[in-house]
Amino acid sequence: SASGRDFEIKSEKPVVYRLTGRGQNVGENAVVRCLGQRQPLGSIKQAEKRQAPAGFRDWPDHQRGLPPGVEQNHQKLTSLNKPSCLVESSKPRPVKWISNRLSWMGWLGFKNDEIYTYIGNVVISVNPYKQLSIYSDDKVAEYRNCNLYQLKPHIYAVADDAYQSLRDRDRDQCILITGESGAGKTEASKLVMSYVAAVCGKGAEVNQVKEQLLQSNPVLEAFGNAKTTRNDNSSRFGKYMDIEFDFKGDPMGGVISNYLLEKSRVVKHVKGERNFHIFYQLLAGGDPQLLGKLKLKPDCSAYDYLNKDSTSLNGMGDAENFTIVKNAMKVIGFSDAEVTSVLEIVAVVLKLGTVEIKGQFQANGMAASYIPNTTVIKEICSLINLDTSLLENAFSVRTVEAKQEKVVTTLNASQGTYARDALAKNMYDRLFSWLVQRINESIKVSEFQGKKVMGVLDIYGFEVLENNSFEQFIINYCNEKLQQIFIQMTLKEEQEEYEREGIQWTRVVYFDNEIICNLIEGTTSSILSILDEECLRPGQVTDATFLAKLGQQLKNHKHFKSKASQNDKRITDSTLADNAFRIEHYAGQVTYNTDGFLDKNNDLLFRDLSQAMWKSKHELLKTLFPEGDPKNASLKRPPTVGFQFKGSVSTLMKNLYAKNPNYIRCLKPNGSKKPSLFDDSLVKTQVRYLGLLENVRVRRAGYAYRQVYSSFLDRYKLISKQTWPYWKGEARAGVEAFMSEINYPSGEIAYGRTKMFIRTPSTLFDLEERRRKKL
Ligand code: ADP
Ligand code: MG
Repeated sequence: SASGRDFEIKSEKPVVYRLTGRGQNVGENAVVRCLGQRQPLGSIKQAEKRQAPAGFRDWPDHQRGLPPGVEQNHQKLTSLNKPSCLVESSKPRPVKWISNRLSWMGWLGFKNDEIYTYIGNVVISVNPYKQLSIYSDDKVAEYRNCNLYQLKPHIYAVADDAYQSLRDRDRDQCILITGESGAGKTEASKLVMSYVAAVCGKGAEVNQVKEQLLQSNPVLEAFGNAKTTRNDNSSRFGKYMDIEFDFKGDPMGGVISNYLLEKSRVVKHVKGERNFHIFYQLLAGGDPQLLGKLKLKPDCSAYDYLNKDSTSLNGMGDAENFTIVKNAMKVIGFSDAEVTSVLEIVAVVLKLGTVEIKGQFQANGMAASYIPNTTVIKEICSLINLDTSLLENAFSVRTVEAKQEKVVTTLNASQGTYARDALAKNMYDRLFSWLVQRINESIKVSEFQGKKVMGVLDIYGFEVLENNSFEQFIINYCNEKLQQIFIQMTLKEEQEEYEREGIQWTRVVYFDNEIICNLIEGTTSSILSILDEECLRPGQVTDATFLAKLGQQLKNHKHFKSKASQNDKRITDSTLADNAFRIEHYAGQVTYNTDGFLDKNNDLLFRDLSQAMWKSKHELLKTLFPEGDPKNASLKRPPTVGFQFKGSVSTLMKNLYAKNPNYIRCLKPNGSKKPSLFDDSLVKTQVRYLGLLENVRVRRAGYAYRQVYSSFLDRYKLISKQTWPYWKGEARAGVEAFMSEINYPSGEIAYGRTKMFIRTPSTLFDLEERRRKKL
């Protein structure tokens, strides 16, 4: 461009664009940028000078503007991507060095399809967005019974480590998988489950248990996952699964806990996203006879709840998936009648979206809603065996009982539509919870002696959307708690242990997100406590009064911001809307729109609706609405959604703390779901907020392995004549005695008050080798 203006390269993959025109009048200062990215990659001049800015790293080797010497070092760097290389050297390194090294390694590995690496025993996994051949049966065999650091980093190695430790050392395990939406958590959880299934126990009975556990995945994904802008198969619920083993390490069964489904998706989703998979699967895969029975048309555009984006997903289609889901339900043990009942409810939910509700004025001048065309509502009622007038009535009036008195008010059109949507959301949400319960009935085992447990947690990832609501608030709260566990267990605990043991130690500082957790869930003056106060306060409460209260009580909180708190003159922020507040999360800022917060937290279903549902003669549907039973009419107000969620998160945390944690931290290589694209700055941001740098620093300065003296002596005493077969003195002296015979480099071993510490895994391997030779 002779005018010197920026130009864009119209290519999805960046390519070097060299300007070799006559005169070279503009070439070197032209700015290069990738299509769709705002930040320019840099100028041609920079590339020529071989000072490549971050984005250049995606380019093919020979074109890449790398700093001099790096080409030759390529080999060296690749070999550095060996297990634990980040922690093997004890040289202190600045954060920047670690950060660059991590990103180099990440990039190099990623390019060679090496998507895994370790920091200590934490696995880092980068989503390849393509099928890799590293999950074959051969690989399973390779990793089976290996030592964590003996082979290339792999998720199987960690799954194996966890399983071995559960089976042989009797320690309950949990696998914590974290990362933002689309980073690969769900895939990772499935890989862990399938690995464990492949290596544990055999026999027909055990195989049936395994099959049932594995088949719970497609069912829950069909009902609980959806396409979002971030992930074509995004989990819209949290899942924690305990797999239970007997003393031999054979799986006996399991228990699944589900956390808050994003039910608002049933009635509304943004363009480019989809509703839950099952709706599309049913329409695409249901045979004409089934669809006829359910009174459905095989056409997504006929259903208001679906018509934003009905395109099928990449890879396998909805129809094929429907077959898989039906088969999975069968394997788990759903009867044909149960499957039909479930699908009937799915059909009813879909149809509710097409019930049109209009307004009119009654003779008394009151607005009232009515249903102009009763065809759909009749179909719905015939599916659930209910008197049509009962449902029609529930969409047009609301009965409030106060002090033994019944007050009936008519609903206008928008209130009627609100009631309709509320019913659809609740019906689907309750159906989902019922499915989890039903699966649990099939896979649960009664209490037995010597039970060992492996928990796998796959929960929705940290999420920042254009418009963030109550759902994102809950999702991000949950991620904040998981980050807290990570900090507790890998940074805090580890450092406290060195101090307790009297090991010389310079503290690594890290950000402790406890302050944010308190902001959200503290017993008083927290966002959740204020929200509950507003929900329970009689009188005129609205989302606005809630926001105002937040502003008042939290205006001095470092991690909180809102316009209301801007009466306080110090805070001026024009990007913050009047109806929003902002939290500075560990992973970044998120602005939440408070519209609907009270409603979603209250989650009250008009009594007329639950009573109508309970009157239906559809066996399953009826059980989903127990509060519709007049016998239960006086039941106390149900706890708020926030309160319940806080309770279940706290139970979950206690459960996780009681187990030995194994971490899989998933990173997202780019924001466009593409293979072979490594967006350096996106990855660096995740590395930073996940606390991985601090993790590396603690690990580098610390010790990979530790053991109390007596156990250590027991295992290795046979390598020395001094200690074999008996050692009569103190365990520590015994350990020191045989260790003194081997000349490990200084700093390799440290003796704490009760435990001994070994810095690098290779030393441990060496000891194992010496032991093996003596056996
Ligand atoms: P998350 O649960 O973290 O939101 P998913 O596990 O659903 O993310 O991953 C999103 C998508 O990325 C998957 O549907 C799959 O296409 C791809 N993916 C993730 N992990 C892998 C992997 N190990 N191998 C191949 N593809 C993967
Ligand atoms: Mg997921």
